[in-house]
Amino acid sequence: MTIATPTSPSHHAPAVTNRRTGAVHRWSETLIPTLREAPAEATTPSHVLLLRAGYIRQVAAGVYTFLPLAWRVLDKVTTIVREEMDAAGARQLHMPAFVPFELYKDTKRDEAYGDLLFRLKDRKGNDIALGPTHEETITDLVRQSITSYKQLPINLYQVQTKYRDEARPRAGLLRGREFVMKDAYSFHTSVDGPGGLGEAYDAMYQAYVNIFTRCGLSFTAVEAEAGPIGGSASHEFMVNAESGEDTILVCEASGYAANVEKAEIGERSWSFDGAPAAPLEKVHTPNLPGIDGVAQFLKTTPDGMLKTIVFEVLGPKPGAAPSGPQPKWLLACVRGDHEVNEGKVRDVSGWSIALADDKAARAAGFAIGYVSPLAATKVPGTLMLVDPDAAQGGIAWCTGSDEPDHHVRSFNWSREMGAVLSDAGRVSVADIRNAQAGDPSPRAKGSKLTTRRGIEVGHIFKLGTKYSEAMGLTVLDEKQQKRSVVMGCYGIGVSRTLAACVEMSHDAGGIVWPAAVAPYHVEIVVMKPDDETQSRHAREIAAALAERGADVLIDDRDERPGPKFKDADLIGIPVRLTLGDKALAEGCVEFKPRTDAGKGELVKLADVIDRCLAALG
Ligand code: ATP
Ligand code: MG
Repeated sequence: MTIATPTSPSHHAPAVTNRRTGAVHRWSETLIPTLREAPAEATTPSHVLLLRAGYIRQVAAGVYTFLPLAWRVLDKVTTIVREEMDAAGARQLHMPAFVPFELYKDTKRDEAYGDLLFRLKDRKGNDIALGPTHEETITDLVRQSITSYKQLPINLYQVQTKYRDEARPRAGLLRGREFVMKDAYSFHTSVDGPGGLGEAYDAMYQAYVNIFTRCGLSFTAVEAEAGPIGGSASHEFMVNAESGEDTILVCEASGYAANVEKAEIGERSWSFDGAPAAPLEKVHTPNLPGIDGVAQFLKTTPDGMLKTIVFEVLGPKPGAAPSGPQPKWLLACVRGDHEVNEGKVRDVSGWSIALADDKAARAAGFAIGYVSPLAATKVPGTLMLVDPDAAQGGIAWCTGSDEPDHHVRSFNWSREMGAVLSDAGRVSVADIRNAQAGDPSPRAKGSKLTTRRGIEVGHIFKLGTKYSEAMGLTVLDEKQQKRSVVMGCYGIGVSRTLAACVEMSHDAGGIVWPAAVAPYHVEIVVMKPDDETQSRHAREIAAALAERGADVLIDDRDERPGPKFKDADLIGIPVRLTLGDKALAEGCVEFKPRTDAGKGELVKLADVIDRCLAALG
């Protein structure tokens, strides 16, 4: 699939339509508790601004109240999500936050989630989880309701509150412990062909592009972990923002984009050949935690070191047929400044793996913390994968010495390892590390990968039969044969998307909402709320705007103009109109789009509605 990277979002649905009458609300009747300064713990722009502008308040770590302004934005984002999901053929339902533990009996996900799962007991002692996601609940529903292939495909979604006891809730709505998610689940009899999973996946991909474009976001759809189906089976939608927690690798030349877990690296040359530069030298290196410390002590840098990680082999990777007998251990060797990518090690080797338990690995003969590639020849049943950047025979490497508290200098691949290096059953060279900026592109020869920060706002995933097999969801096919149903799942962080909009669109004065998700489209600042003429004009303009579908907030507070203008900038309504005596005496109001600096422009009363609507796009 080609990757859509709309960098300049277009609004292909108008923000304001006369399909509905807009709302007219008064500041004095709603709750917008703006603050001069945000609490010290808030540092990310959206967290700071949503607190300061009176959108959210923290109730507990990672748990927030959505005040009226935020609720309106959430409602608008939700409406966009619903319109696009409905148009893509998905149907809305609503499942409870409660997930009785019985539902996890077959999938054991209560164990997989561990501490992330909020657990409670009812008065009868039954265990209940607060749903972090709803695969089990929906699979159970469909298992009870659908028996024949004729009832498929079907795609069901909800917009609902999710609970995850995140280790580090952060940045306000970006990573909460209670948050709003749209989650959809599709059910099929096949992966390919009409009515298959692929078709629904592509429709969801397009719906996501539409949703995030309509929200005014600049985003990148990136390849993500493939899971059991393999190939291009999962994409994450990343908002391009510096404050994002995720790193995205991008090849500008080919449009390739992937997250760190998935990003492939283009071809790199390697060779174990090369004459030794000096005799192997053992060095006592006690109490040197971390590769940087060791490198410094050995008078080298991390890129002059080999790092060897020990994995335990659990069994064949699902769906893979690895050649040769099952090894017990798998060593992954990369350059000291690189990170081993577990998914790549698994995919390249064809074995399911887990980081070795320290105790078990030590008992088998691995000097954890001081393991060298030579350990592959010393511990029986060990397979080794070497990354091309580490497979360089011309370098005198520093590495562990397979003995606690000792390292070696001048490790030379062919001298130290000999014939084992050409035994394909024991040593192979492959891309097994995380990609980083400057690596060769996997799609365009001669181009390099660059990195970008991103906020994951959506994730689509071809699940395959993982849940249907575990939970016994089958249908009868044309030949009356029982078949496991093929599934996909599709999530959007709705509350995270709200925060991502603020991350993308703010300035020194406050939030700058794109019109499509702004809580109101126009804010009318009335200089003297007691003045009957000013109030009447405010009412009339607001009513005329509402008639044309715009939502209007009238700032009718008895406050000085300075703070009212400051607040208007802070809460970020796209258009500000100011009603004052001087302008009205000339038959005008002051018109100022939020994106314009300065005082604004005098516009004739007769023209003001059209000017507002034009500015809202
Ligand atoms: P992350 O990697 O950010 O923890 P995830 O991959 O675990 O997220 P999914 O299970 O894919 O999340 O959930 C679907 C969507 O829900 C994510 O793409 C994200 O937008 C949103 N989401 C997940 N966790 C949170 C959270 N703690 N707070 C707000 N939104 C979240
Ligand atoms: Mg995800």
